[in-house]
Amino acid sequence: MNKVSVIGSGTMGNGIAHVFAMKGFLVNLVDISQEALDKGIATISKNLDRMVAKEKISVNDKTQTLNNITCFTNLEEGLKGSSLVVEAATENVDLKLKIFRDLDKYADENCILATNTSSISITKIASVTQRPDKIIGMHFMNPVPIMKLIEVIRGYKTSDQVTKNIMDLSTTLGKIPVEVNDYPGFVANRILMPMINEAICSLHEGVAGVAEIDTVMKLGMAHPMGPLQLADFIGLDVCLSILQVLHDGFGKDKYAPCPLLVNMVTAGDLGRKTGKGFYDYSQGSKELIVAFKK
Ligand code: NAD
Repeated sequence: MNKVSVIGSGTMGNGIAHVFAMKGFLVNLVDISQEALDKGIATISKNLDRMVAKEKISVNDKTQTLNNITCFTNLEEGLKGSSLVVEAATENVDLKLKIFRDLDKYADENCILATNTSSISITKIASVTQRPDKIIGMHFMNPVPIMKLIEVIRGYKTSDQVTKNIMDLSTTLGKIPVEVNDYPGFVANRILMPMINEAICSLHEGVAGVAEIDTVMKLGMAHPMGPLQLADFIGLDVCLSILQVLHDGFGKDKYAPCPLLVNMVTAGDLGRKTGKGFYDYSQGSKELIVAFKK
C-alpha cells in the first residue's frame, strides 16, 4: 500500500494527509473546494515549518512531504491507483452515504474504504456499498500530526483481515490504534460529547461563565483544555452533529443537544474555524478571549 486518497481537506483531512505523506505514502488529497485544498496545503506547510523550527525534521523532509501530496477536485481522478481511501469530509450522514456510493463505484475493487467519522454508523455507511467487509472506521484525533490515538471501528461486516491491515497501518504511521465496535459515538465521543454538552448547558443555565467552567475542568480534572475551548477546537457544528447521532441512536434525553449549542451553530459561530465560538479567535493571539456573553 503506497498510495492513499484522503477525501476532504478541512481540519482533519489535511492533518491525515500530512501524517501519511510524512511516512512516505503518496497522497491524493480530494476536496470539492479548491479553496479548501489551498488552505489545507498552507496548513500542512505551516505545521511542517513548526517541526523544522523544532529540529524534528529537516527542510528536505518538509519538501519531500509536500511533494508526496497531489490535490484533486475530481473524485474519480483522485482515486486512481489508491489501495486505501480515508474519508474526512463534513460530518453529515447523507453526504457520507453519497460519498461512499461514489467511492464504491470508482475505487479499485480491493481498495479499503475507511472513514474518519466521529459518530456515524460504519455499518450504515457499509450498507450502501458492495464491499461491506472493506469498510472501516479510522478515527484520527485532532490535531492529527500530534495526537497518538486512532480509534479503529469495526462495522458489523468488517473483515478480520481488513481490521488487522488498518491496525498495522496505524502503527506504521506512528500512532496507537485501539479496536472498538460500531455503536453510536464509538468510545471517544460517547464519553466526550455528553461532557461538552453538559458544560454548554451549565453555561446556558448561568451556573458559571465560559472561563470559570473551563478553569474548573482544567485545574480540577487536569484536562489540558476546558470543555468549551475543546468544543471550539473541534467545531461546534461537528459537536452538534455527533450529539444528534447519539440522541437518535440511543433515543435518550441525556444526549439532547443544548439549545445554546443549536443557536450558536445556526448563527454560524462554529468555534476556531470561523474565528468565534465560546472564545474569540479573530485577533489571532494565543491568549483566550471570551466571546460568549449571556
Ligand atoms: P471540516 O468542516 O473542517 O472539513 C470538511 C471538508 O470536507 C471541507 O473542506 C469540505 O469542503 C469537504 N467536503 C464536503 N463535501 C465533500 C465532498 N463531497 N467531497 C470532498 N470533500 C468534501 O470538517 P472536519 O472537522 O475536518 O471533519 C471531517 C470529518 O472528521 C468529520 O467526519 C468529523 O466528524 C471527523 N472528525 C473531526 C474531528 C475534529 O476535531 N474536527 C475529530 C475527529 C474526527
